[in-house]
Amino acid sequence: MAKLAADRWNFLWINGEKVTLTKMIEVQNPATGEVVGHVPLGGEAETRRAVEAAWRAFSKWSKLPPHERAGYLQDWADRILANRDELALLLTLEQGKPLAEARGEIEGAAAFVRWYAEEAKRAYGEWIPASHSDRRILVIRQPVGVAGLITPWNFPAAMVARKAAPALAAGCTVMLKPAKQTPQIAIALFEHLMDTGIPAGAANLVTGDSAAIGGALLSDRRVRKISFTGSTEVGKHLMRQAADQVKRLSLELGGNAPAIVFPDADLDRAADAIVANKFENCGQVCNGINVIYAHGEIAEALTETIVSRVQALRVGNGLEPGVAVGPLIDETALRRVEALLADAAAKGARVRTGGARLTDGPYRNGTFFAPTVLDRVTRGMALAHEEIFGPVAPVITFETEAEVLAHANDTPYGLAAYVFTRDISRVFRMSESLEFGMVAVNGTSLSVPQAPFGGIKESGTGREGGHHGLQEYLEYKYVAMTLD
Ligand code: NAP
Repeated sequence: MAKLAADRWNFLWINGEKVTLTKMIEVQNPATGEVVGHVPLGGEAETRRAVEAAWRAFSKWSKLPPHERAGYLQDWADRILANRDELALLLTLEQGKPLAEARGEIEGAAAFVRWYAEEAKRAYGEWIPASHSDRRILVIRQPVGVAGLITPWNFPAAMVARKAAPALAAGCTVMLKPAKQTPQIAIALFEHLMDTGIPAGAANLVTGDSAAIGGALLSDRRVRKISFTGSTEVGKHLMRQAADQVKRLSLELGGNAPAIVFPDADLDRAADAIVANKFENCGQVCNGINVIYAHGEIAEALTETIVSRVQALRVGNGLEPGVAVGPLIDETALRRVEALLADAAAKGARVRTGGARLTDGPYRNGTFFAPTVLDRVTRGMALAHEEIFGPVAPVITFETEAEVLAHANDTPYGLAAYVFTRDISRVFRMSESLEFGMVAVNGTSLSVPQAPFGGIKESGTGREGGHHGLQEYLEYKYVAMTLD
């Protein structure tokens, strides 16, 4: 592994200790096809051990004064930042994203941990006026218990921070399962957490067989909370499993984000924001734009501007300077994008730039796809309804506000929507009428530690970020007191 010791992160974390197994799984670099590490093939037995450790640690961790829990988290954030170069390199090697993006993700992860270090101190309760003079009504907030955290490969560092930090801040202990494509960055982040001296068992991590690990988490009564980020399909499966024990659930699932550009928008600004969002992480972003709705008056001008920006994006190995778009995560992802494009082309879409996988020279062993812009797209095409999760930007033309609103809302998903207009009344009408958990106006940046990130409908339930994110790991307890 370039500049990193091979197989440095090839263990699980159980009860504060590194655990190795004989059965291992390979981790590949999607830019080169090279094996960049191995992690243990854990399963039910390891998960049970990790849950046992988390359950035993819960009574101590949950009773620590919040200021002490905050101290560990603050220290964790400092250690992440102090090691950002190594962590960013590891992230790019196993995930493929450009090094600058990887660095931004690591810094974002530290910012999340720092936010929740502060928020740990603010799990306020309530004092409610009673109806009788000898009664008192208190509401206290208590940690839910052991939390099972399941993270995806597209933001494998940020997702660890976004789940583990609020859970630990609230007083929960955790058992984390990272995605098989990107497990090493999670193990490395946990190494820095262990280096803070956090009590043994407060944070555990098992890599391996997702169905076995998930099954063990979902069937164990000691696990009281599941927080999952990933596909809607797996999210629904976990929701069904969680029903048996009525576990608390946070689900951050797929999306189908519209970017709606009205004729009065600043087109240059809209194009910059759309391209930054659509091609970040090679289009593998849950709140990534799926369809660009351009008003008929400006559709051609906007498409032209987007095309010129996209043609300037350099595709390649994320370790190379100047690369803006890395590979897709794997061959399956590449084939999916190809199939969506073939369907659109067969139904009349026009490729304005890109349009195919890249296979020659430096691209030959990776899973690269040329950044693509399509116009003449219609709602009958599969990519208008399915999450593309790749570097393809389809443009659909619309004429009226009512029409575009109806089309944008006609999806089972409801994560993020983007609106570009300078009409303040339209800003309010659109923000209030779009059926999405998040609406960005004249920009596309949404993920910050202080705001509640999350979706509605089949995009999930629960929020990550802000004080709202802490509530996901807290229960209310109502204490009714009668005085002498
Ligand atoms: P995925 O296949 O659902 O995998 C996500 C995680 O779930 C991985 O750790 C995976 O483990 C695990 N998993 C798979 N099957 C499981 C099972 N039966 N029980 C327990 N865990 C199981 O999703 P993905 O393809 O990696 O991620 C892409 C999706 O995530 C997209 O739809 C994207 O929109 C969504 N996403 C949403 C957000 C958000 O905030 N809303 C953020 C990022 C991504 P293995 O990899 O080891 O199988």
